[in-house]
Amino acid sequence: MYEGVVQDLIDELGRLPGVGPRGAQRIAFHLLSTDPDDVVRLAEALQQIKDKVRFCVTCGNVAEAEQCRICLDPRRDPALICVVEQSQDVQAIERTREFRGRYHVLGGSINPIGGVGPEDLRVKELMSRLADGAVTEVIIATDPDLEGEATATYLTRLLRSMQVPISRLASGLPVGGDLEYADEVTLGRAFEGRRLIEA
Ligand code: ZN
Repeated sequence: MYEGVVQDLIDELGRLPGVGPRGAQRIAFHLLSTDPDDVVRLAEALQQIKDKVRFCVTCGNVAEAEQCRICLDPRRDPALICVVEQSQDVQAIERTREFRGRYHVLGGSINPIGGVGPEDLRVKELMSRLADGAVTEVIIATDPDLEGEATATYLTRLLRSMQVPISRLASGLPVGGDLEYADEVTLGRAFEGRRLIEA
């Protein structure tokens, strides 16, 4: 245990995902020895994500306006919707440059053990985007893990009633992995080789 504010900082950092007690300590002492300007910039960035960043009313991606950059871009094909779990997955797919449509961010995946059901995800919002029949393909790009598969199966069943063609990414992504961390080439190939699910 350290004194006062140093320990407070370690405690706060330790609550972040992926940062254990040792990592928290390392970051805290790094900040202590860092140039004050750098620390101010970090503090400002932290403040601004809460002040400025919102979620796109259409797709749920992070946005600085009511809609995100992708939904506002007229060059993006509104007839193609790629469904992902989180905003980081949008970034991963964007890096592949394989997709020129739009996204729908669910905000997680179905996880009965963790108490996350379809009603906790942006499923209703997806259904209403499909209601006018203008979408010609829904690409389900959930993570290749248990929860991602459960979510994909659920959505496939649900969307069949909407008469919209559904496709899934080709296999080849590391099973149990996270889409967000898949390399561009593998993810790009999985995207290109996506297959329509028989209705
Ligand atoms: Zn959007």
